[in-house]
Order: sequence, then structure tokens, then C-alpha cells
Amino acid sequence: MKAAWRSLALATLALGFGLTSNVSAEPPGKGVPGAGVYNHAGTVEQINGMKTGSRYALVCTSCKSMTIETVKDAASLEALCHNGGQVHCSSCKEKATVEYFGPSGKSAPHQNIRYVNAEGKECMFVVPLKD
Ligand SMILES: [Zn+2]
Repeated sequence: MKAAWRSLALATLALGFGLTSNVSAEPPGKGVPGAGVYNHAGTVEQINGMKTGSRYALVCTSCKSMTIETVKDAASLEALCHNGGQVHCSSCKEKATVEYFGPSGKSAPHQNIRYVNAEGKECMFVVPLKD
């Protein structure tokens, strides 16, 4: 264990910013998101505002898990905000349906979105993780 601690300390020193999160194979800045508040994306515009390569958390309130995903391409964003589409929880395998709700049209420039289960209850949400 001593050797492990030493290498962790060295890695931390090498990074120079006192990063105490897991030392992973990811390059600096692309690993575990830093401490802070990350708000969920509640509109189609916010989902589409994520860039390829950036990360988001898919939070499932059914099994209380959080899955970190990377935006692969525009199609993967489309899958997250396509009205009537389905999103899977990697933990409990539950399927949630993408549902548009609230006012839309001229008076509301943003299309509200939520993920509901078979009973129509909100069961998941997406949290973009800024790099
Ligand atoms: Zn789940």
C-alpha cells in the first residue's frame, strides 16, 4: 500500500493542482468533473447545447444512480431529446420515454423536456458536465 500511496502522491504533485480524484487514463481536464453545482438540462436547447466529446450525467431516480456518458455525435444528442424516443438506464435497465411538455410555440422559445417511466412519472434527467 505504501508504494500505491507514493505513486498517488507523485501523480498529484505532477498535476500541480492538487487533484485528489482518481488517477485515470484520461488526460487532465477530461476526467471526473470538478466540485461544483451542475444543473440538469430541462430543455431541448440545453441538450443540443452540449458538444461532441463533452460529458453528461444521466441520473436515474428509480434506482438512484448516475451514469456518466460522453457525447459521441449529434445523433446521440438527438436520441436524448427526440420527442417519444427512449433513454435507457445502464444501472437498472429501465427505459424512460422522452416527453415534451409545457408551452411551446411563439410565446416559449424553449421546448421543455422530461423523461418519464411507464406510469408517466419523471424518472430520469440529464446533467451536462462542463469541462
Ligand atoms: Zn436506473
